[in-house]
Amino acid sequence: MRTCRTDGGTTDGRDCRMCGESLADTPDQRVLTAVEDGTVVHRYFCSDDCLERWSA
Ligand SMILES: [Zn+2]
Repeated sequence: MRTCRTDGGTTDGRDCRMCGESLADTPDQRVLTAVEDGTVVHRYFCSDDCLERWSA
């Protein structure tokens, strides 16, 4: 038995933090990276629009 699977890991089922849209088929997605309490936190958005609304 052999497992040979190499992919970019880009379609791992993340959702937009703002509207909940799946990011799997959203080429326009944005990632906001922040450091909180010494931990790197990534937040995903489907577009600049959602990112701006979330941070407003
Ligand atoms: Zn969104």
